[in-house]
Amino acid sequence: MRVHDINGNRRPRRSRRRLSGKRRVLFDLPRMSVNAADPNMQAAIREALYGISRGHGGPFGTVIVKDGRIVGRGHNKVLVNNDPTAHGEISAIRNACGRLDTKDLSGCELYTTGEPCPMCLYACLWANIDRVYYGCTIDDNSAIGFRDAHFDQLGGGREALEDYLVQIDREACLELFRIYSETEHDLY
Ligand SMILES: [Zn+2]
Repeated sequence: MRVHDINGNRRPRRSRRRLSGKRRVLFDLPRMSVNAADPNMQAAIREALYGISRGHGGPFGTVIVKDGRIVGRGHNKVLVNNDPTAHGEISAIRNACGRLDTKDLSGCELYTTGEPCPMCLYACLWANIDRVYYGCTIDDNSAIGFRDAHFDQLGGGREALEDYLVQIDREACLELFRIYSETEHDLY
């Protein structure tokens, strides 16, 4: 059956597919309230909430900021993409590099809801990101079932990077984790 809009025109194929396709929304996004003090961390939390509301992956959202402006966004898409490297930080780095048409994110700062795993931490270093702000800690990530601590210990810890990693808004990010823990989700 053809689908027409209010003016009698056929809807583009993409719209029709979206109407009839599988749509898995686990909770109603606007009803969720998580309030971070930092607006960039708040944007990262919104990104994470969007992802977990659709079952994309863990409660990890990221934004990248340059000169006070968000230039990249991403959230964990490990489950929806069947991609173990599709962490929020990696997704945001790819998004920012595409939008800025560069492979060098010098002058950028990254905000992420969970302390970066070793893969993402080193991706930030490879991308020349100036500083990383994170909410929940590696141990918080472990507490909700993720293997960050195990991989971090394999790498010998991160004491040498103490000044590079700055923790903020842990309470708001813990609230995000609480919401995630209460939703239907698969662990990986
Ligand atoms: Zn990661």
